[in-house]
Amino acid sequence: MKNIIFILALVMTTHLADAQFSKNLFDTYDSYKFSGIVSRRFKHAELMTHLGSLKKSLGVMAVFEQIGNSAENRSINLLKLGTGKTKIFLWSQMHGDEPTATMALLDLLNYMALNRNSAEVKKILSETTLLIIPMLNPDGAERFQRRTSQEIDINRDALRLQTPEARILKETRDKYNPEIGFNLHDQDPRYTVGEKGTVAAISLLAPAYNVVKNDNEVRIRAKKVVSELTLVLQQFTPDHIGRYDDSFEPRAFGDNIQKWGTSVVLIESGGWKNDPEKMFIRKLNCVGLLSVFHSIATKAYEKTGTSVYENIPMNTRNLFDIIIEKITVTFSDGRPPLIADIAINKEEVRDSTGTRWEGRVVDYGDLSVFSAHEKWNGEGKTINSMQVEMNDIVNVDELLKKMK
Ligand SMILES: [Zn+2]
Repeated sequence: MKNIIFILALVMTTHLADAQFSKNLFDTYDSYKFSGIVSRRFKHAELMTHLGSLKKSLGVMAVFEQIGNSAENRSINLLKLGTGKTKIFLWSQMHGDEPTATMALLDLLNYMALNRNSAEVKKILSETTLLIIPMLNPDGAERFQRRTSQEIDINRDALRLQTPEARILKETRDKYNPEIGFNLHDQDPRYTVGEKGTVAAISLLAPAYNVVKNDNEVRIRAKKVVSELTLVLQQFTPDHIGRYDDSFEPRAFGDNIQKWGTSVVLIESGGWKNDPEKMFIRKLNCVGLLSVFHSIATKAYEKTGTSVYENIPMNTRNLFDIIIEKITVTFSDGRPPLIADIAINKEEVRDSTGTRWEGRVVDYGDLSVFSAHEKWNGEGKTINSMQVEMNDIVNVDELLKKMK
């Protein structure tokens, strides 16, 4: 018992300093958020403009280096900050339509520039070297698509290395042989956490390096970093941190980089109610990353252990955007009425007029086992089946009026 109390006290005191740091980061985020970027659909040219302005504000703190080109000759860049022994490698937007972490990287670089004299930034830059590739797949970002311009998923190209983008990632890892790596992605915003039904804002993983998911020193270090990151994020979104599927994928970068000796942490930016542009998730990414940089610099994360990691609830998938509950559905052609729940997801539709969000009916019947960002009570109300047919686009505002 004494031992347990001692361990608890150790863990708590270890976290007190960092908890305050991350709380400050969270509370003052608007003061250092990179204001040049306000939507997810930025492309390479825009990113380069932003990196140009950050280069100016960071000055001698950072080295910018073009490390190669995409298949369509867009530059891929590496930013180096710090002089410390522990190398931390971060790469974002391997999938072109997963830009949340790229925005967070700009935020954290801006934070470093603005707070260069703070004790925390000094500690991070003296103990670690940050190696950052923002937007590994600029051609995909240009089209806002997952794959590269050559239609390859970079995350299935870690072994064959057929794409220039995959080769750049591998070469950079091999050149620096970093201790810790952050593999930064977006996931479907409708994943949930465990059986709770709450949306997964962020999902984390220390990827397996073999099929049987063994632990070794490299993966254990990754699990400790994930544990630390989980504790940080749970301060702000306690029920919204999930664990990503840990099946080994022999062709994926995360799994292979873990195998090659860099402790990999996968961060998947998920969803948040009424936040289709994922600006809150961007903030969580930024606060989480800066906080763990500091924990790595102070080595606080080493004391955190892996039990937090092992207890993160797994990602599940049982969330819709809207469920209209128990509404009476009538049929015009004599079929009898029935009571049903109706699930509607908001989908991003792109056409010549631009981009907009539309509701689509995606499930129908007894949906009582599912959760939703919004549940509307349809009891005592009636709707004609023609208005809510499966897979139809529906007018969400009109439906909501009907519910009132
Ligand atoms: Zn991805």
